[in-house]
Amino acid sequence: MNESPLLEVRNLQKSFTVKKGFFGSSKQLRAVDGISFAIRKGETFSLVGESGCGKSTTGRLVTRLLTPNDGEVIFNGTDISRFNENQMRPLRKDMQMVFQDPYASLNPRMKVKELVAEPLLIHTKLSAKERDKLAGELLETVGLNSFHAERYAHEFSGGQRQRIGIARALSVRPSLIVADEPVSALDVSIQSQVLNLLQDLQEEYGLTYLFISHDLSVVEHISDRIGVMYLGTLVESADKDTLYDRPLHPYTQALLSSVPVPDPKLKKERIILKGDLPSPVNPPTGCRFHTRCPACMEVCKQKAPVFREVEPGHQVACHLYDEEIMKQA
Ligand code: SF4
Repeated sequence: MNESPLLEVRNLQKSFTVKKGFFGSSKQLRAVDGISFAIRKGETFSLVGESGCGKSTTGRLVTRLLTPNDGEVIFNGTDISRFNENQMRPLRKDMQMVFQDPYASLNPRMKVKELVAEPLLIHTKLSAKERDKLAGELLETVGLNSFHAERYAHEFSGGQRQRIGIARALSVRPSLIVADEPVSALDVSIQSQVLNLLQDLQEEYGLTYLFISHDLSVVEHISDRIGVMYLGTLVESADKDTLYDRPLHPYTQALLSSVPVPDPKLKKERIILKGDLPSPVNPPTGCRFHTRCPACMEVCKQKAPVFREVEPGHQVACHLYDEEIMKQA
């Protein structure tokens, strides 16, 4: 694995204006509120958290389907956070997305060969014959057959459709793939097949993945490092083994307690979080997790914890790991 980051995100912020009712006042929904991370070439970095935590918005900011309000997106050493569509066009082929719902993301009126070759049509000067040939080869690469090229997406199962989506993303040989919940619509048995395929392709093509999921059990196999998000912020980040063996943040601990373990003798006590995820329009004061945290202290209600490194490569945002605060608590 190459050590230089392919993607670096610094203090990324994105708000949306939301309005309650026709005459209601406008409020800012802070979907992503100052997150930073870097992904090395050939690495898989996963963003995990409940629905509404800002992880999908982050994926769209990174690929510049959305423009950040603040912060930087540095891709291959260039800050692309303010690039306009003209400036982004040549970069689009280098960063592709794979979406959650393969059916919704594939045009039902197009044949599979057209779907797979569409990015080639946009980004290359290949002839129709060359595109068809490549589409057939790509289908074989993702475990389908080249004769599937003449069919339509509705003729395939969910897992096969996701393979078509992956072939399409691969067609322009991107260096970064942002996979947004790519297996959450699939049966568990099919999930592992698609995850294995993504890993095989990573090795073969040297791909870098930003993998987005609500489920820590899904990302365990595929990730090198993991970032846990809560209400628009990163609360913990570490390499996979450290995060699963020694989770520090109470939110990560709660998420991990609900991951099923294959050995029944290793039964874990499940931590049930109280309450629902608060609204990002009106996030709690202090630590955003304090309304649900089983370890909440008085200071947590007033003071937001800083996201800091507590051991090499392991960052957490929680007062429990701040010596100064704990001396006073
Ligand atoms: Fe819980 Fe306080 Fe840590 Fe937030 S800062 S996670 S409320 S202990």
